[in-house]
This record gives sequence, C-alpha cells and structure tokens, in this order.
Amino acid sequence: MALGLWSNGASATSSGAFSWRRRPRTASPELMSGRETDRREAGGKVPNMKKLISRSHTTNVRSFVLVAALLAPTVCRAANTANASNEARIERYFRSIGKDPTLLLAFLRAMPKGGDLHNHLLGAVYAESFIQWASENGTCVDPKTFYLSAPPCGSDKGTVPASNALTDRFLYRDMVDAFSMRKWQLSGKSGHDHFFDTFDKFIVASYGNTGKMLAETAARAASQHEIYQELMHAATFPEVTALANRAGWEDDFAHQRDKLLATGMAHVVAAARQEMDDAETVRHSSLRCATMQADPGCEITQRYLYMVLRGMPKEIVFAQMVLGFELATADVRFVGVNLVQPEEWYVPRRDFGLHMRMLNYLHGVYPKVHIALHAGELAQGMVTPEELSSHVRASVQTGHAERIGHGVSVMYEDQPRELLGELARRDVMIEICLTSNASILDVEGHRHPLREYIRAGVPVALATDDEGVSRSDMTQEFLRGALDQELSYAQLKKMARTSLEHAFISGASLWSDARNFTPVKECMADLSRPRMPSQRCQAFLRTNEKASLEWTLESQLLTFESKPPPAAEASRHAPVP
Ligand SMILES: [Zn+2]
Repeated sequence: MALGLWSNGASATSSGAFSWRRRPRTASPELMSGRETDRREAGGKVPNMKKLISRSHTTNVRSFVLVAALLAPTVCRAANTANASNEARIERYFRSIGKDPTLLLAFLRAMPKGGDLHNHLLGAVYAESFIQWASENGTCVDPKTFYLSAPPCGSDKGTVPASNALTDRFLYRDMVDAFSMRKWQLSGKSGHDHFFDTFDKFIVASYGNTGKMLAETAARAASQHEIYQELMHAATFPEVTALANRAGWEDDFAHQRDKLLATGMAHVVAAARQEMDDAETVRHSSLRCATMQADPGCEITQRYLYMVLRGMPKEIVFAQMVLGFELATADVRFVGVNLVQPEEWYVPRRDFGLHMRMLNYLHGVYPKVHIALHAGELAQGMVTPEELSSHVRASVQTGHAERIGHGVSVMYEDQPRELLGELARRDVMIEICLTSNASILDVEGHRHPLREYIRAGVPVALATDDEGVSRSDMTQEFLRGALDQELSYAQLKKMARTSLEHAFISGASLWSDARNFTPVKECMADLSRPRMPSQRCQAFLRTNEKASLEWTLESQLLTFESKPPPAAEASRHAPVP
C-alpha cells in the first residue's frame, strides 16, 4: 500500500515556489495540458505528484530532458542559492518571534513535520470519539467511576447508557476528564496514575472501531502536516493469548517458538492481517478516500508496530513477540515490534531481563525485523536506583532496539556519557515525547535530557505518544520543543527529517549521509527542484518508499520556506482593537 507516497508533496505545492501559478516558462504546451488535465481530475485541487511526474514523462520526456540537460547546472545553482536564502529568512523569523506562544503556534502549525514514530493507536483517540462510539453501540457507563462496560445497563450494576452523556452535560464533561489528561490535577491522583487509569475506562469503546481510530489519527496527522505514522497496535490479542495458554511454558525459547508455530500461530497471523484489512477498509470509507471529497488524511502513510503487553505472564509475552516477528515477516504493513505498559510496574520490572533475552533470541531468528522499545520512561524515585541505571543500555545491547521510546532516565544510567556515545555510534534514535514526559513523569525543561542527546549527536525526533489522552497533537510537541527546550528552527527541521530517516518503512534512504542530509547520487542534483526530478531520481524514488517519503518532506519544506513569513515585529506591536 502506498497511500500518500507522493501526494502530500503535491498538496504542499498549492502555494509557494512550486505552485501551479508559478510553473516554469520553459514548460511545453504538452506538459501544461497534461497538468491541466491532472488538475481537472483532482476536482480543482492540486494534482497528485506521482501522476504529475509520470504524465510529464510520457508526454514531454524528450524536450524536457534536452532542456534540462542544457540548463541544469545553472538552474540548480540558482535554486540552491534561493533555497538557502529562504531557509535563512525563516530561521531569522523564527528567532525574531522568540517565545511568543501565539506566533509560534501559527508558524509551527504550518511547518512540515515528517513522521510520528511513537504513537499508540488506542491513546491517539480523543475522548469525544470514544463517548460517541459508546453511545452508538449501547455501551454502559458507571456515572461515578466512568468505566465503560458492555450492555445491558442497569441500576443493579450501577451503570447507565453512555448515550445519556449526549444530553447530560455534567456526565459528558466528567467522562471527557476521566478519559483524558484534561484537568487531571483535580483527579486526586498523580499525572502518571491518572494517565494509565484512563485506558481501562474507555477501552470498551475501542472494540470493533480500529478502522475509525486509524481514520481519526490519519486525519489529525494531515492537519498537522505530517506524512507518516507508525502506530502501535495489538491486533488479535485474545487469539494469541489463547494460543499461549494452550502452549504452556518451557524455558527453551527455540522449543517454545516451535510449539507456537505448530499449534496455530499461522492462523493468528492470518487473523491479525485480516483485522487490519477490515480496519483499513473502514478507514478508507470514513475518510471518503478515492472520492472528490477525500479527507487529506487519505494521503497519510500508516504503518503498524506490533505492540507486546509486557505486563502479561511470560508465555503470553513470548507468544505476542513471536506473533509480532511473524507478522512483520509476512506483511509489509507491520514494520516492527515494540513492548508497552508501565516500565516501573511489578511484572515488567521483574521480567525485564527475561524480555530482553527473548528479544535477543528472536532477533537471531528474524534479524530483518525492526525493534523499537520503550526504555527509560522513568524518573528519580519511580524504581530502585539499580533499575534506573540499566534499562536503556540493556534495551539496545541485549534487546537490539534500533529506536528508544522516551529515554528520559538516560543520565541516571551507569556511565551515561559512554552510553550516549554508544547510542550515537549505533545510530539509535530517541523518540522524544515532551508532553507525555511532562504530565506522566513530571520531567520537563532543563531536567529533560534532550539537550544531552543532541550534544552527543544521538538522533532525536519528536513524537506524540498518546495525543488523544494527552489532549495534544504534533504541533504541540513542536511548540514544547521551541518553548520548553529552546530548539531552533534548524533543530526542529532536522528532527522532522530524522523521523523519516529512522522510520521502519521499507526501502533505501534519500540520504547517503543522513547526519548532513547529503542526497544519494541518483538524486544529487534534483533536490533544489523537487517538482521535476530526473528520470534516474524518479526510478530510485519509485522503488524506495522511505526515500519517496523523504522526497515529499523536502518538497514540503522548500515550499514552506519559500513563503514570506509575516513581519514579526509588526504583528507583535500592532495595536489591539
Ligand atoms: Zn509510549
């Protein structure tokens, strides 16, 4: 599936240097008519870039190649100079608005953000959606605790129909607060406890609604100018649990895996793939994809990380891991495995070493399957000092994590400078979740280790974690990055690029050197004019999904930077009527 592979770049061309209105004068009549046809097909919207490129090369390839060959060096130099000047102008504007949250919000909302690599599908949904779905499904709610339950409702169970909330504003208000971090300070619990308790309250409303959840996250991602998501999701959890219970447990991992494969793992894999087929069908219809009214969310490329619940008994954890590795081997939509649930809870703490050894074994069996791990989602006092000092290192060295989620406690690890150096050398990316860390761990500002990661050259990218529960979105993460972490525009831009570079999607990178963003030789001369890549570059992008996404982001960034920013000083000092 290649939804959104190109088209977000196209939508970003609706204004700015690469817009229709500024098409090059050297374009031939045939090329122009081809574009106009594309525009009509798109119902007046800017056309799909993939179509544009293929059509331009079927209608006009000879004349274009000749002109391009003659003009390329001059055009590229001029374009590179203009692009560098635009970037410098945007950086100046960004510095000029300083810490003004309203001007920053408007600026960052429009900024292209690449991908969100740490996003729990269940936690990405806003409370309002869960209440709506619960109301439509006859689900019940306890009006004192706000836990949802299956019908029938009744006073003997202490429940009422969740649909009551649609006419009872007090119940509605309290359910939104109970399902999210809104006003969590009034809950009488810590941010950490209120956060993790929300999931059990609303989870019933998620059953059977995976497709709608995909649609909601995709639509929101498009509104934030993202182009890619990796969503953590535990497909077919009941089926894999039943399989694990039938298999029992023995300490020999190879034998345990053989038993699972021999007693029905293939059926669970097939069921998980079918579940996502069905969900994607619902997402497609919910977003009205392939119609004239298609939601921009249709253009988002979504991939899945199989989510292992590490608080389960070891036989279930291992069976989930095997399912995740098998799924990622069988289905390109599943791009890897992640372990979730609170790191400081008893079972994940007790079995942490065992889980790392399981991953070490399975990595040997499935070396191509990607692994991202939550590690170091901890703060001083949450666990014993010994546990605070080892989880990030063990997740990389034994668990083979290519990305670490959170890594907040990294400076509490043994020999933290050496560890940071190792993370940089191994090119392990840290998924930075600022809103989540502030509300769950109470770690923000200078107590957050983001600066240390950047200083040490460890790749970092911002992510939402649970944007629905947190009442956040990717723009808010960028805003926190600017306000709370004092990141520059250049650093935010680098993080957007890094998010795609470390995505687990298939294919080679656009960059031969991803630290300095040097393009591969196939596209070396093309990035300054992304609407007209050479045939060689096009061929490379067609066969490499990751590079194609990165190309789209570069196109979006060039367009974004080509727009003149508002006069910061003028807007700040304008009289308020
Ligand atoms: Zn997470």
